[in-house]
Amino acid sequence: MQQLEINNLRVAIGESEIVRDLSLTVRTGEVHAIMGPNGSGKSTLAKVIAGYPDYRVTSGGVLMDGENLLELRPDERARRGLFLAFQYPSEIPGVTIANFLRAAAQSRLPEGEELEATDYYAKLYEKMDLLDIDRSFTSRSVNEGFSGGEKKRCEILQMAMLEPRFAILDETDSGLDIDALKVVAHGVNSLRSPNLGVLLITHYQRLLNYIIPDFVHVMVQGRIVRSGDKELALELEEKGYDWIRDHAEEPALV
Ligand code: ADP
Ligand code: MG
Repeated sequence: MQQLEINNLRVAIGESEIVRDLSLTVRTGEVHAIMGPNGSGKSTLAKVIAGYPDYRVTSGGVLMDGENLLELRPDERARRGLFLAFQYPSEIPGVTIANFLRAAAQSRLPEGEELEATDYYAKLYEKMDLLDIDRSFTSRSVNEGFSGGEKKRCEILQMAMLEPRFAILDETDSGLDIDALKVVAHGVNSLRSPNLGVLLITHYQRLLNYIIPDFVHVMVQGRIVRSGDKELALELEEKGYDWIRDHAEEPALV
């Protein structure tokens, strides 16, 4: 068993402290959901773990199997087995999904080692079958003119191919139509395994009707104010965020 460990993390953007003393441990085999109102810092947390610039970690740390992730470049984090699904994925006109995924797989190999085309396609088709994705899908350009559901399908296929040990999925607060939601749910449920830890960030409880998390955390104003099991998500759905918001303080300046 391995773990992604967030310890007393504080993150600032400019003068504002966005993540405020947040601690959370995700083990392989577990699915953790983070819920919370808009602006509570959920996406900031995801981006800091993945290694986006612009964010200043003022204290605390993020460890993956005991190694300090924050000292690694984003590509090194990915190589160690971290995957972040983008909230707003980019279109790459002229590059097919098949070639894009192949380039991604190639870039993970040690220098000078060539990806075998037959091995690659065997794996690609295996993952597509697992996820119920049609063979014609991978000849389309990455995200170009894709529906919400197709973007999610592309993202989930990337995740399947990269076989991460920890995946962070930051789901849009709006715009996840029912098709997209089912793609994400089917993908995560199919890829769920003792070798994968998932951190699923979502605004709405609805997604958690399809992906049953092992743990649910509520994030308000930069910190986790409550943790529980799937029942907590139902309780939130019923009572709304105001019920829990009272537990948080005003944003601090740093
Ligand atoms: P959530 O994903 O929970 O809705 P975010 O992490 O996107 O929250 O945002 C948390 C707070 O940080 C918000 O007040 C937002 O305006 C601010 N914020 C996020 N990213 C930036 C940025 N790049 N520059 C300035 N402020 C930002
Ligand atoms: Mg967000």
